[in-house]
Amino acid sequence: MNYEPIIKGNVKEFSVKPNLLNYEEARESFSWDDIYKELDGLEGGGLNIAYEAIDRHAKTSLREKMALYWEGKDGNSKQYTFHDLYTLTNRFANALQSLGIKKGDRVFTYMDRTPEIFVAILGTLKAGAVVGPLFSAFGPDAVKDRLQDSGARILITTPGLVATVHEIAGELPALEKIIIVNRRKTPYELNENEVSYERIMESASEEFEIVKTEKEDKAIMHYTSGTTGKPKGAVHVHQAVMGHYATAKYVLDLHPDDIYFCTADPGWVTGTSYGIFGPWSNGISQVVYEGGFSASHWYGVIEKYQVTVWYTAPTAIRMLMKAGEKVIGKYNLKSLRYMCSVGEPLNPEAVVWSVEAFGLPFHDNWWQTETGCIQIANYPLQDIRPGSMGKPFPGVTAAILDEDCKHELPPGEEGNLALKSGWPSMFRIYWNKKELYDSKFINGWYITGDRARKDEDGYFWFVGRADDVINTAGHLVGPFEVESALIEHPAVAEAGVIGIPDKLAMEVIKAFISLKDGYEISDELIMEIKRFARKKLHAVACPKEIEILDSLPKTRSGKIMRRLLKARELGLSEGDTSTLED
Ligand code: ATP
Ligand code: MG
Repeated sequence: MNYEPIIKGNVKEFSVKPNLLNYEEARESFSWDDIYKELDGLEGGGLNIAYEAIDRHAKTSLREKMALYWEGKDGNSKQYTFHDLYTLTNRFANALQSLGIKKGDRVFTYMDRTPEIFVAILGTLKAGAVVGPLFSAFGPDAVKDRLQDSGARILITTPGLVATVHEIAGELPALEKIIIVNRRKTPYELNENEVSYERIMESASEEFEIVKTEKEDKAIMHYTSGTTGKPKGAVHVHQAVMGHYATAKYVLDLHPDDIYFCTADPGWVTGTSYGIFGPWSNGISQVVYEGGFSASHWYGVIEKYQVTVWYTAPTAIRMLMKAGEKVIGKYNLKSLRYMCSVGEPLNPEAVVWSVEAFGLPFHDNWWQTETGCIQIANYPLQDIRPGSMGKPFPGVTAAILDEDCKHELPPGEEGNLALKSGWPSMFRIYWNKKELYDSKFINGWYITGDRARKDEDGYFWFVGRADDVINTAGHLVGPFEVESALIEHPAVAEAGVIGIPDKLAMEVIKAFISLKDGYEISDELIMEIKRFARKKLHAVACPKEIEILDSLPKTRSGKIMRRLLKARELGLSEGDTSTLED
């Protein structure tokens, strides 16, 4: 295991004192009950995520504090205080009730990152319904699968996206009403089962008494990314907000004066847990950029809003690396003080690069749709070992278990990454898939499906998804290690590694790569990259074959789909591709 280089834990010489000052002490003293006490709860008892995120601030001196700085992709921008969001979400909750929505009903959103998606998600939670955000780039099959599975009664969408819903409307018996948000006033004639968002909001009252929800009432469902197979609907309850709140405070290190920027879409769990609930339950101002990935726009947003804390994902960081440092030089990014990453393994090279490019390392953290909030993380004050996911969150117990998931393995040994079940934001069911849910719990552990190892000092190192680990000549090789070595080569932008069947070795390693701008495909380049990999990797982990693609197949949330690389390589069925990026 390579621990070097170690990046000393510093937040720009601690310009702001981190919230978590001593990890070991925090582990000793942490209690979820204490976190619960930092929240308000509903008057008369109960807990509601939207109340904690918005209403409680609207009643304090934070009332006029900016909650949302929204930057449209066409250059428009808008700002909303906590009080603005309080009244808007009240109106939306009233509107849902007038449409017959009751506690526990499913209400889905299918729209771009405009302010209304925040109003719709939070308003739905206030009405006691279960909200299901869908990514706006989904096609008809992906939308149909999720609306059918969840039995959603209401969908909130836009004139630009509703055509997709019309295509499948006949196959959605549970769907009663579609709310059309027409922010850009596109000419559109409503169908019989459609209502105008603007109209229902106008006539709805600003006063609303939140439907009483308890800690264990269902709040939000997210379909997983579909990286390893058909997406599953992971359902979270209202007390998940304890996890969002605590991890946003101690891992994202949010402070009252921060301007926070999360690049994830609310269609994915990162975009709700940390694009809505985490920052706002802490009363933090955040910036939302409507558009997709763009190095110059993102840097522009950071400069314009003086962003201090930035949370993004490895694929985006690799794309920023590809865009290069020249573009960074055009912006003043001095406001940044802390940066985090989640979603895929963060290659050590990316951490080292970020220190060179921004003067700050990206702090990797690990979690899943199922876990609801960050579970393993690099904290501001802790030294970073690039390539490591860090250490378990103080309120979380993580372990590496053996093949039967019965015994913990000693440091250094690779096994199944598991979490002691019972943290507040743990998923409570996979919608309609009880057996699958039950199969994930063994002896009080939640088995994550990821392979990892822990070092002597308690840092966790990701090896690969259980399905992706390669068995070659009697050795288990995780794709992450090989991919990380490959992307250290200056020509390689991204890499996806799979095992292909082999008579002698059982499997041999094949790597798919895409190139940085300015490099041409050639046999010499492939040979050179192979030689480079041989210097970096143990002989068994070296790719036998390297193929260059224009880009690698990825999910909409930016994860490399190794199962698709494999299916295509072996001529097998591609399975569920509903989350595949165009
Ligand atoms: P599906 O379960 O449908 O196959 P998915 O697992 O990609 O999709 P998510 O819940 O969005 O769906 O992603 C969680 C997974 O992403 C983790 O189990 C892990 O494999 C990977 N992941 C997330 N963060 C990290 C990280 N920091 N390092 C390594 N892997 C990570
Ligand atoms: Mg998964």
